[in-house]
Amino acid sequence: MGEIVEEIRQAYASVGITLDAPAAYGTYYRLLCAGCGRMVGNVGDRLLPGMAAALVAEQFDLYASGLLGCPCGHQSERVRQLDAPRWQAARQRFAG
Ligand SMILES: [Zn+2]
Repeated sequence: MGEIVEEIRQAYASVGITLDAPAAYGTYYRLLCAGCGRMVGNVGDRLLPGMAAALVAEQFDLYASGLLGCPCGHQSERVRQLDAPRWQAARQRFAG
């Protein structure tokens, strides 16, 4: 379980999201914006190896366009640094 949590932590860190301490009831972790600390969601730790990275990768376009993530824009800025052409394409697709 510790390895999965670490994997989830690293996957979200790549898009500018911090994994908070687990909620009192255990298997859920709060997701915090690494830019401003605002809560942007929850994630459960019952994922299989590789799932966390795949999940975050699938959400790239949503973070890029601002449909997912914090209103401060930190995640969008982070994914732009990861892949600027894809970021731009996603912005244009969702802008229409
Ligand atoms: Zn923020």
